[in-house]
Amino acid sequence: MAFEGLSEKLNETFKRLRGKGRLTESDVKAGLREVRLALLEADVSYKVVKDFIAKVTDRCVGSDVLESLTPAQQIVKIVNQELTELMGGSNARIATASKGPTVVMMVGLQGAGKTTNCAKLAGLMRRQYGKRPLLVACDVYRPAAITQLQVVGQQLDIPVFEMGQGDPVQIAREALKYASDHGNDIVFLDTAGRLHIDEQLMDELKNIKESIHPHEILLVVDAMTGQDAVNAATAFDEALGIDGVLLTKLDGDARGGAALSIRAATGKPIKFVGTGEKLDMIELFHPERMASRILGMGDMLTFIEKAEQQYDEKQAKKLEEKLRKNRLTLSDYLDQLEQLQKMGDLSQIASMLPGNLGKSFDASQIDEKQMAHSKAIIQSMTVKERENPQILNASRKRRIAAGCGLEVVDVNRLLKAFEAMQQMTKAMTKGKMRGMGAMMGG
Ligand code: GDP
Repeated sequence: MAFEGLSEKLNETFKRLRGKGRLTESDVKAGLREVRLALLEADVSYKVVKDFIAKVTDRCVGSDVLESLTPAQQIVKIVNQELTELMGGSNARIATASKGPTVVMMVGLQGAGKTTNCAKLAGLMRRQYGKRPLLVACDVYRPAAITQLQVVGQQLDIPVFEMGQGDPVQIAREALKYASDHGNDIVFLDTAGRLHIDEQLMDELKNIKESIHPHEILLVVDAMTGQDAVNAATAFDEALGIDGVLLTKLDGDARGGAALSIRAATGKPIKFVGTGEKLDMIELFHPERMASRILGMGDMLTFIEKAEQQYDEKQAKKLEEKLRKNRLTLSDYLDQLEQLQKMGDLSQIASMLPGNLGKSFDASQIDEKQMAHSKAIIQSMTVKERENPQILNASRKRRIAAGCGLEVVDVNRLLKAFEAMQQMTKAMTKGKMRGMGAMMGG
């Protein structure tokens, strides 16, 4: 995940400051020099770092902070606030049409992830806002681009409008008619990309902009290209005018320079981030959550949102009832595993948990393979065994292990995990909030 190096360095710095108790102005300045270096190493542009440090220093060396009971914590809080501000303050949303379909024009250099993220974003809009998206193939130079859009559209079951290699403006117009006729309320134009910014490309994009008047122009840039992404954002904004940025491949970007510089360099917010190759790996960009994640405070809100999206209320009620009666069975455990699997990449979820919890989270316990094994084991049991795990003696365990091609130790491991879950859920049902608090170490 992004920001690993930066996170680690900032945490070391803050730990040192905390260790000191009372702080002098020169302690703070020395600490902020380390913050400055960490940001530069994270490939944040020089000017952005300079302005950032000036602001933070201004706020940190005042007597309010130095004479407070917890100066180091105050400094972390200030850095957190300023990092949030740096990335855009509050959350940005995409504009919507007051009448007819909303038109989102996606632009960007080749390879940034434009086509894939057209589909991802369309999927997100459908999932989160109940929209009925249409994807439009306006990249008319590469036949492969049209096919690629069709493939990703098909994977998500989202319709794709194409007219082969015609005039992109004409295609967009026809697509809008199609959308109105077919009840699609949001349209994504997948425009042509190039390896480098050139005049011809910009002219074509300007032409589409002036003829179609999209409600939103989103620039797709690759986080892994660091300052090149920032330069691309500046160039596209100057030539075409963009409304926001979709920053892709944040999962592969260990440094985070683009995420931290784009807003300050262009004045345009990052609105979405791509966090993996799979088509559901896209998130709204929340500056405050990202700042907390950088500072190792985790990202519980995103985690809870993900969980809520997948959470089946009815099933949860049933489960609660069973827990109260202490009648949790392996069939319930199987349901839980399936729900957890639906939440997506588990190591990604673990990385959103704060500090120690995230680290102590043993991803191997719930990795995909382990989950598949657990499911296979439970599925090899009879209904009676699933409902009454205590009847599982040695011979039953041998039969089950043979049935799913695993060993008795695997069956025992699953039973242990099941027991642990029973213990934990028992503690949690004593009071939902208290349970959560205990989990979070609070
Ligand atoms: P385009 O040329 O801009 O249309 O780019 P594509 O949509 O073809 O994407 C280029 C490559 O980036 C593909 O292999 C995508 O799977 C990959 N990609 C897109 N978004 C992400 C992301 O958020 N994370 C990762 N790891 N890969 C991504």
